[in-house]
Amino acid sequence: MTAHTPPVVLVFGGTDPTSGAGIVADALALAALGCHPATVATAVTAQDTAGIKQFAAVDTELVIAQARAVLEDMPVAAIKTGMLGTPALVTAVASILDDYPVIPLIIDPVQVSGRGDALADEPLDEVLRTLLLPRARLVTPNTLEARVLAPGADTLDACAQELMTLGCDYVLITGTHDPTPRVVHRLYSNHRLIDSFTFDRLPANYHGSGCTLASACAAGLAHGLEPVNACAQALTYTWHTLKHGYRPGMGQVIPDRLYRRGQETDDA
Ligand code: PLP
Repeated sequence: MTAHTPPVVLVFGGTDPTSGAGIVADALALAALGCHPATVATAVTAQDTAGIKQFAAVDTELVIAQARAVLEDMPVAAIKTGMLGTPALVTAVASILDDYPVIPLIIDPVQVSGRGDALADEPLDEVLRTLLLPRARLVTPNTLEARVLAPGADTLDACAQELMTLGCDYVLITGTHDPTPRVVHRLYSNHRLIDSFTFDRLPANYHGSGCTLASACAAGLAHGLEPVNACAQALTYTWHTLKHGYRPGMGQVIPDRLYRRGQETDDA
């Protein structure tokens, strides 16, 4: 045993048998970034690298029991949510978070996959807006998700303002879906744009980039980084996982969350 315990990050999300997205993807990113992942399954999906075949939500009581088992056993340094699947599960997660208001919450507000498949049995906008987003230290929507969550806003800046008005401390809007030559991600806090991050656009279609990014942000916050630095490091890490991505099946490219393997020094 070593004296050092990595910070624990608790993730709520769906399973993905390809490990391209969902809680296994989260666990890979978190472990690569020096955290211990604790994974609560909210839904089981059947999918390949081309699309979702079907999914079923996990029973609400079982989701609560999974989360409480971890939270009552380990100090949790950050909580990240991904696929939640049903309004009842969003409500259940919020009820757990009521008991842990100090743990930073990172929300990936995913409701539809990048391939356009539904990841929820009905729209979750309203429950996310009322129950989850007000608790967020950081929310990481792409531009499409930002517009869905802030329907009254006419620009992305206005979307960010609306999400901050709901109570999110930091809003990181990822710009991959914008038709710009380079990809620009924007970070907002205190009702203003505080930073933007520009990356070369990569050529492929990726599966699980949003999970990777939100988990990497959670890892940074769990290590005690300021949110701006956590986002900057997470975006750089995620870009490298995509650049090193590989295509194990017939569909999308999967980010290589372990692209740094072999670079660590072995002190055994
Ligand atoms: N499947 C699960 C279980 C997920 O959590 C997600 C995203 O969060 C996806 C699929 C979709 O991933 P992507 O949009 O990157 O293909």
